[in-house]
Amino acid sequence: SLILAIETSCDETSVAVVRDGHEVLSNVIASQIETHQSFGGVVPEVASRKHVENITLSIQEAVQLAGVKLQELSCIAVTQGPGLVGALLVGVVAAKSLALALDKPLIGTHHIAGHIYANRIVSPLEYPCMALVVSGGHTELVDLQEEGDFRLIGRTRDDAVGEAYDKVARALGFPYPGGPHVDKLALEASEAVELPRVWLEPDSYDFSFSGLKSAVLNAVNQSKMRGEDVQTAAIAKGFQDSVTEVLVEKAIRAVKEFGSQQLLLCGGVAANRGLRQRLSARCEQEGIPLLIPPHVYCTDNAAMIAAAAHLKWKQGAVSGLDLKADPQLKLEEW
Ligand code: ATP
Ligand code: MG
Ligand code: FE
Repeated sequence: SLILAIETSCDETSVAVVRDGHEVLSNVIASQIETHQSFGGVVPEVASRKHVENITLSIQEAVQLAGVKLQELSCIAVTQGPGLVGALLVGVVAAKSLALALDKPLIGTHHIAGHIYANRIVSPLEYPCMALVVSGGHTELVDLQEEGDFRLIGRTRDDAVGEAYDKVARALGFPYPGGPHVDKLALEASEAVELPRVWLEPDSYDFSFSGLKSAVLNAVNQSKMRGEDVQTAAIAKGFQDSVTEVLVEKAIRAVKEFGSQQLLLCGGVAANRGLRQRLSARCEQEGIPLLIPPHVYCTDNAAMIAAAAHLKWKQGAVSGLDLKADPQLKLEEW
């Protein structure tokens, strides 16, 4: 099969052409990061406008780079939700127009199913498997006993891990998105400020990062009040150590309890080197096969949407042209 996929859930306009769910022929990503940087975060109205400006050329470029003809496509896939409604609408309308004009099936997909199935681009999946989803809006452990059978076993009770990274980065004086800056600083640091680990109830797979975030903000403010230099690097390392230890240990416990054959890391924060290193080391120790997509398939991209949509296409699970963007779409309704 040959799938053209469109992703516009947040601040990346992305279009990809993917063969058989894993062979990426093109993956065009028009990032709006510079546009949003001056606001310190994503402005929904601005994001929608930028998607409108970028979508047509991104489609054209993706098709050209892939070296395919539009008529050869098997279907058109699109992120249906969750995300910013105005941003999602741009992708959904573009996908419907293409599907209608070319007389091809339309397939709506869940954004997080996309992040999880980005791992199909790396390697075939073996079930049951466990996904650790770490992104700007989500922090979840998802058990897949079978293909497409998503079961949420844990989630953040407050901030998503990417959100916590971005807030900590801002307090330390870095621009949006701050995750990569904190990561770099943490890896260069020689010492770490001691910060709490939030484990919650002993049997819980949920997460909480707002207390940790507040502890960081307090440490920064106290230094400033005392007129001392803020120990930026040591704070970044303390924060990263706390976050990654909790994420990694909970994921490993989940793999053991649910009998997972593989652990899949995914979402924008999967680009974090501290997390990759700690998780790789622990999985090696425990003999757990670990999949981590390359950087470009961790942050938002359309190739991952094609990877997920391909499974629905195989099942004949196509959507009607009445498909609606759904900012609250549940993973179980992927
Ligand atoms: P969601 O997928 O939940 O809807 P999103 O699509 O906005 O959210 P992604 O694009 O998947 O999120 O990830 C973006 C997040 O990843 C940002 O919060 C960013 O700071 C974070 N991030 C990117 N690289 C790193 C890194 N190296 N270390 C930590 N965080 C990172
Ligand atoms: Mg993004
Ligand atoms: Fe995302």
